[in-house]
Amino acid sequence: METKQFKAESKRLLDMMIHSIYTHKEIFLRELISNASDAIDKLYFKSLTDDKVGLAKDDFAIWIYADKDKRTLKIEDNGIGMTAEELENNLGTIANSGSLKFKSENKLDEDSQIIGQFGVGFYSAFMVAKKVTVISKAYGSDKAYQWESEGVDGYTISEAEKDNAGTVIILELLDDTDDESYGEFLDQYRIKGLIKKYSDYIRFPVKMEVSHSRPKEQSEEDKAANKPLEYEDFIEIETLNSMIPLWKKSKTELKEDDYKHFYTEKFFDYNEPLKYSHVKNEGVPSYNALLYIPSKAPFDYYSKEYEKGLQLYSNGVLIMDRCSDLLPDYFSFVKGLVDSEDLSLNISREMLQHDRQLKVIAKSIEKTISSELKKMLKNEREKYEEFWKAFGLQLKYGIYSDYGMNKEKLQDLLMFTSSKEKKLVTLDEYVTGMREEQKFIYYATGESIARIEQLPQTELVKDNGFEILYLTDNVDEFAVKSMNSYKDKEFKSVSADDLGLESTEKQEEIKAKEEENSDLLKGLSDALEGKVAKVVLSKRLKSHPVCLSSEGEISLEMEKVLNAIPTEQKVFAQKVLEINPEHEIFGKLRSVSGDSEKLSKYAKLLYTQALLIEGMSIDDPVEFSNLICELM
Ligand code: ADP
Repeated sequence: METKQFKAESKRLLDMMIHSIYTHKEIFLRELISNASDAIDKLYFKSLTDDKVGLAKDDFAIWIYADKDKRTLKIEDNGIGMTAEELENNLGTIANSGSLKFKSENKLDEDSQIIGQFGVGFYSAFMVAKKVTVISKAYGSDKAYQWESEGVDGYTISEAEKDNAGTVIILELLDDTDDESYGEFLDQYRIKGLIKKYSDYIRFPVKMEVSHSRPKEQSEEDKAANKPLEYEDFIEIETLNSMIPLWKKSKTELKEDDYKHFYTEKFFDYNEPLKYSHVKNEGVPSYNALLYIPSKAPFDYYSKEYEKGLQLYSNGVLIMDRCSDLLPDYFSFVKGLVDSEDLSLNISREMLQHDRQLKVIAKSIEKTISSELKKMLKNEREKYEEFWKAFGLQLKYGIYSDYGMNKEKLQDLLMFTSSKEKKLVTLDEYVTGMREEQKFIYYATGESIARIEQLPQTELVKDNGFEILYLTDNVDEFAVKSMNSYKDKEFKSVSADDLGLESTEKQEEIKAKEEENSDLLKGLSDALEGKVAKVVLSKRLKSHPVCLSSEGEISLEMEKVLNAIPTEQKVFAQKVLEINPEHEIFGKLRSVSGDSEKLSKYAKLLYTQALLIEGMSIDDPVEFSNLICELM
């Protein structure tokens, strides 16, 4: 018989399985049981619409047989089975496997830990078996086939005998070594324990013949003579799993670990969830849901590749793996599932989108998530800040998108770093801490907190003792602008024209100074023609010589952010160069105001300086450097 070779990818994985030093080799059983259950699911699904299947729901089962003499463990299902071709494709080429695809994205060979965390499907059998035989008959086919392999050397496929559709997997266990007892997987208590641990909510019964012993009936004489009891063995068929999906169990029955374990298993995350919520909604439509907030953003979360969605079950049967309609974009980080008896099993994807029941469920789920987050913010601040670090950006995008339509829903979940203690604060906390005379919610933008701290523009606001929100993400200012105000307090950039802080005297004084120096200011702005909209004397600067601010809708930060997007069209803020009339540099400028060549050089220097402070790229670094040398 021809021995076929595994595909390269499969061989690699297989090799890893065989040489695995992974301590949880036991997960192989979970993997095989899950496959069996999936196969039964498929045939059961068919049986709902196809009488020819000839099986009722109760007829479907997974059987485990352990034979200690032969050292074999057999797992049998009466599911959909596999044709010869499918045996070849599914078991010879593991690259098809969903779990492997996930793993290759996560650097398979780097981390053997991953084996246990996610399960690698069928090949995990080779962690405990020296030989694996799969006998399968596909539903609707009259031939059965046998796939056999002793590992990396390859596999054979031949015809076989099998009556009904389904699959039998026979593992010939490895010999025990000093450190490793494979024989224990034949022990009925061990098997029972593993099924309970990993496969309890598998929807079809996992059955096994379990041997018990009982005392034999004693004769009256033996009893009278006080003879010791004799025992006899008997066999009983037991269903090892409770079959009730976790989410259908009562909350009191479940422990925190059950929820967490379920999450890491099911949603391929090796970090425990930050938060979970078990929803039992008795209304119409009634549904159960398990909702999880991951503790870290998935590696592809902020990319186009990330797909949001919850698993959707209709009365325990999976109908969609990722139903995106169940989650709004701003809560796209939530993982979990929804199970409703009020959804039809045969509903198509297109119909689902228009399903009224589904919309109602989605609304209710959104409310749950929102209130869970608010609860967390109120009662578990540290946890919430952890959440905010992972997913805050998404909420800010949520505020900004759809023209601020979701402002009301999201604004109380926002956090920004505050200038006061460099701590995260909510908008509510900011407003509560506002001084009586304070009119605005002040914010400053920049790429980092350290950078913002150095901005000259923050001086005046800080000197007034007002708190400033530090906006460090690209989306922040857009979000703030689309909110416009919070609790009737307008947001105001520290770079804005009118900070509402300057006294009338100060304004008068500056105005007078500007008139007095109108020639100088004109000279400066002529020198910076096309670069700045105007040059003014600053009302906000205290110790710094210059800064930039902007007029109109587009701020300096927005110019930076928008121009970082790779498009042809560039946008520019209307820049205003502010000069501090109290700074000695101002005197210097006055003294050269008659020398237009010199003034022009100074103007360029000051403008470039201001750009640097803002963290903006400068127009002509060579010219700047030459000017500095010249001056020195
Ligand atoms: P995964 O389950 O992640 O797809 P596996 O390696 O466990 O990867 O299985 C590969 C494929 O082999 C499955 O997707 C399925 O099509 C098929 N398969 C495995 N076990 C069975 C079974 N007991 N009955 C029918 N098909 C099976």
